[in-house]
Amino acid sequence: MIPRQPVRQPRLGCLYLPPYRVEGISIAGEQTVVHVPELDVAFDIGLCPRAALSAKYVALSHGHMDHSAALSYYFSQRNFQGMGTGTVVCHPDLAGPVRRMLKAWADIEGQQTPFTIIEIEPDQELEIKGAFFLRAFKTEHTATSLGFVVIEKRSKLRKDLVGLEQEELMALKQKGEQITRIIEVPLVCYTGDTMWGAHFEREDVLGANILITECTFIEPAHRSRAAVGKHLHVDDLARLVRRTRAEHIVLTHLSRRTNMNSAYRFLEMALGEQDMHRIHVLMDIRRNQERFDQQLDEAQRENEA
Ligand SMILES: [Zn+2]
Ligand SMILES: [Zn+2]
Repeated sequence: MIPRQPVRQPRLGCLYLPPYRVEGISIAGEQTVVHVPELDVAFDIGLCPRAALSAKYVALSHGHMDHSAALSYYFSQRNFQGMGTGTVVCHPDLAGPVRRMLKAWADIEGQQTPFTIIEIEPDQELEIKGAFFLRAFKTEHTATSLGFVVIEKRSKLRKDLVGLEQEELMALKQKGEQITRIIEVPLVCYTGDTMWGAHFEREDVLGANILITECTFIEPAHRSRAAVGKHLHVDDLARLVRRTRAEHIVLTHLSRRTNMNSAYRFLEMALGEQDMHRIHVLMDIRRNQERFDQQLDEAQRENEA
């Protein structure tokens, strides 16, 4: 008898939600890494697929192994591939343990890997590129945890000056007046692992155009499991979907207990049909591939027209 072949590795999920790609793998308890290449950020790094290496920043939501296990490898591979020193952005409570972990790796390997740790408290921000900022917010999980929103700060003409001639504006500016105001546009929100909490009332969380949220337990009967692990249940998701203004809601961290077809059945039961067009499941490789092929087709047709 010929033995069975090994279990296949899950493929990287990939969604193109213009102008951003959301790529990665996320399975509850096993591994989570969600990379947005256009923003230079990977949210969590439970494993480090080659595609995630290019992330200049790893925003770490919490220390559970399925979200943090590949951090050392990320630093080491970036260095090995000549990609520059990697940076982890994490809660101050994790900075010490991460430093000690990397010190242990230096002892194990007999060589130093360069790394950068940036501590971020809830409601603090870090400039990641140009006008883009990574903001942390407090979430509720069984370990110290953070969620993140990437905000773009756009400079706009002051409301009371709209309609003035260019010369008048120049004159005001020369007098030293501030003629612009800054508006904040939340682009992408990543919840990490969390139960329901006050953070789901935040303007920046509800206003983000792409909301990447965990939804670990998707079966109606799994309510108590969700409560014990401080995760979201599909009923919480329904509440969130009613509130968020996101054009795209990307579900991550689904439990392996539920297969993909059943997951959609439970989602539709809880959310109703009207919101399903906003929902994407990161690990639904087949459906996301079809969607991507369609996007390719459309782009091609537009090119030809
Ligand atoms: Zn997790
Ligand atoms: Zn966790």
